[in-house]
Parts: sequence; structure tokens; C-alpha cells
Amino acid sequence: MNVLLINPWIYDFAAFDLWAKPLGLLYIADALRKAGCKVSLIDCLDRKHPGLDFRKDEDFGCGQYYREEIEKPLALRHIPRKYKRYGIPVRLFENELEGKDPDIVLVSSGMTYWYPGAFKAIEVLKRKFRGVPVLLGGVYATICEEHARKYSGAEVFPGGDIFKIAEKVFKLAGKDFNLSPKGSLRDNLSAPVSAGARPRPDGYRGGQSLTPAYDLYPEPEYAAIRTSWGCPFRCTYCAAGLLAKNFSQREPLSVANEIEFFFKKGIKDFAFYDDALLFNAGNHIAVILKELLKRKINCGLHTPNGLHARYVSEGIAELMRRADFIQPRLSLETSSEKRQKETGAKVTNKEFEKAVKDLYGAGYKQGETGAYVMMGMPGQDLDEVRDSIIFASDLGVKVFLSEYSPIPGTRDWQDNKFEFNDPLLHNNSIFPLYGVKDWGKLQQLKDLARDLNKK
Ligand code: SF4
Repeated sequence: MNVLLINPWIYDFAAFDLWAKPLGLLYIADALRKAGCKVSLIDCLDRKHPGLDFRKDEDFGCGQYYREEIEKPLALRHIPRKYKRYGIPVRLFENELEGKDPDIVLVSSGMTYWYPGAFKAIEVLKRKFRGVPVLLGGVYATICEEHARKYSGAEVFPGGDIFKIAEKVFKLAGKDFNLSPKGSLRDNLSAPVSAGARPRPDGYRGGQSLTPAYDLYPEPEYAAIRTSWGCPFRCTYCAAGLLAKNFSQREPLSVANEIEFFFKKGIKDFAFYDDALLFNAGNHIAVILKELLKRKINCGLHTPNGLHARYVSEGIAELMRRADFIQPRLSLETSSEKRQKETGAKVTNKEFEKAVKDLYGAGYKQGETGAYVMMGMPGQDLDEVRDSIIFASDLGVKVFLSEYSPIPGTRDWQDNKFEFNDPLLHNNSIFPLYGVKDWGKLQQLKDLARDLNKK
């Protein structure tokens, strides 16, 4: 059975490739291949696509996407910024489809407000492959299931259970699903390498254990890795608990094996997609890092999702430094102690200060650590954001401002009685404006963070 996987474009005011890979789709690719399917991938966000002559690379595999300005949808007409499609040109996408003969197409989706990218892909796919089932999954399809069912034109498959998705693929194609062993994703990711395992096309000998299919990329520069699913916390603004109900961690050695495998394939940068990478640190990340050091895997490790300051200790900071965590980013969000408590109590200012001290003790210099600070939370005034920026910056930490985005199903959504019928209005580039109504003031805060970071 031929399965075509699509990672669609981003439609937004701004986007940057900060180690962004469709990890769920790459796991599905592996599950389907192990069940006997022939799988191909078109990643509209692959900056190294051979048909693209646009290259704006930055450090550690990150970089700018090719982009084209497009007409703003009605809901965003009032926003004084250019709206763009990020990723390969549509023409290149259509060329890629030539000669393909899929039995089924799976389209992933990311941020809720990026849905026009998935819709565009579905529209092109339906025109090209008449009668072929097109399935839409991923974050948007899970969080805005009703909207997706109503408007996407695809069959919507919410939730992140890779085996259920694989089973569905087989059912749609009228075939029996035969992947063994079944069981939880965690079991499958942690399954030991068996002596008689059949090698994958890229040589990975993981038995039936799953590993993301990076060999589907002609030139993978970095790899996204997950060592756990879900988060033990329930912050009022966060979707982690909606996307994975329970928290589970992989067996640490299976993570080290996976990193070593891709490292030997030439990938030198790895981004952890975990929501709680440092939780249970002594039995988890510490074991992984010691193993990487023992095996002399000299790669760059990155934490685009932010780390829990609470779990940074002297020992963990030292391991992070030795294993080459590059600019570890801590999640601060706000220095308002009241709001820290009200939104989930994942960090206190004292814990943050202690974490920064431990990182300095391990050898990081000023500016070599980062902190996420949130802007535009419901009820948050700009003074609070300013204070938070200054609090982190005074500790010598580089500030990364993240703009608030309301997410259906979170406690914030319920408490604030948000009613945005169109997910376009969840966009973090515009949401902070609703409270402040002054673009200039938001820009001043961005300038402040930028100036302090330069110092
Ligand atoms: S700790 Fe982080 S990942 Fe976990 S719920 Fe809070 S914001 Fe989300």
C-alpha cells in the first residue's frame, strides 16, 4: 500500500525554522513501513528541498523559510502586517505530486491558526488524486476538531495515537492491519533492539521499536527527539494536557541509541521536543546525558520548548554543560509571583534564580542561557511584562518573548469565556493586541528585550 505523508505550509505573519520537524508524522511513517506500507513524504517546510534555490541558514540547522506574501483572510484584514505562506512554492508542491500514486494521503497540522496551510494542501491533493482518502491529523485537528470536520474537506483524525492512525490507514484502504507488537507508543519506542531485527531502509535496527523516519529527507540537518510525552503540570494556558493526557517517559537508553544512530548518520544537532525534559532528572535525562558522554557523541543539544527551572540542580547543570546543551532556555513566563501561582505554579522566582546560578556554576556565561517570557496573557498589563524582562535580563539571561495564544480546551479558555469562532484569531502575533490595543507599546517591549539581550 502506498501512503503519502504531507507536512503542510505555515500561513502566518512570521515564522522561523527553530528545529521544526513533523515528529508525529515521522513516527507514523516508521509504523506504516513496519506494517508493510511504502511511504513517501512531502514536507512543505523542508528548507533544504532540492527544488528550492532559497537558502538563509542560521546556526545549528535553523534558518529562514522561503516565503510568499499572500492575501490576508477576512478575519485578519485589520492587522497592519504582511501575511505570508512559508515553505516551498505551491508549484513545487504540485510538481512533487507528479508520478505519485497514493492509496491514502495523511496531512498533519500544527498551530491552530496555521490551518489555511493544511487546507491548501488538502485542496491541491483532492484535485490531483480524486477518490483517494485524505486524512487530517495533528495539533489543529485535535484541538479544533469540530472546525476541521466542518471546513477542511478531509477526514479528520484527532489525537496522537500512532497505532490508531496506522490502523485507520489500513481500514480505509480495505487491508488488515498487522503490526506486531502493538501496545503503547511508549512500549514500542522502548522495545529493545532484537538480534534478528529487519533493518529499515536507512539501516536502523530497532526491531519493532519506532524511531522517526528522518531518512525520508534528502538532507536532514538536525533531528527532533522526544524522550517523554505529556507533562505532569497543568498550566492554565497550555495545550500539553490536551495533546497527551498522561505523562510518560521513554527508557533512557533507547533515547541514547536513537541519538547515536542519527549522529552516526551525520546529524549533529538534536532538539528535544519534550514538555518536561528535566522531570525525574536523576533517572531520566541524567542517564541519557551520561550515556551520550560515555559513547563520545559530540552533538549540539537544544531545548526549544523551555525547561523547568525547578529541576535544574548543580549536578544536572554540569551534565548539561558537558553534554553540550546549547543556550538552555528556561521557562519563566512571568516574574509576577501571583500569576505564577495562579497559572500552574511551575516555577518561582527563587527557583529561577537558583537554576541560573547552577548553570553559571557549570560554566555557562552571561547570555549563554535563555528565558521565555510571555506577553499578552489575559489580564496581564505591560508593566508586568516589562518587569519580567528586566528580572531575567538582570540575571544575565537572554530573553525570548513569546506572545500568548489562546487555546480551546485550556483552563484559560474556559475561565475567560473566549469565543473565537475562527482559529485564525488565536494567532499569537495578534492576540496580545486585544488587551493592549496599541501595536506601538508591544513593539516597545520587544525593543527593550532586544536591547537588553544585546548588552
Ligand atoms: S509546565 Fe510547561 S508544558 Fe507543562 S503544562 Fe505548564 S506550560 Fe505546559
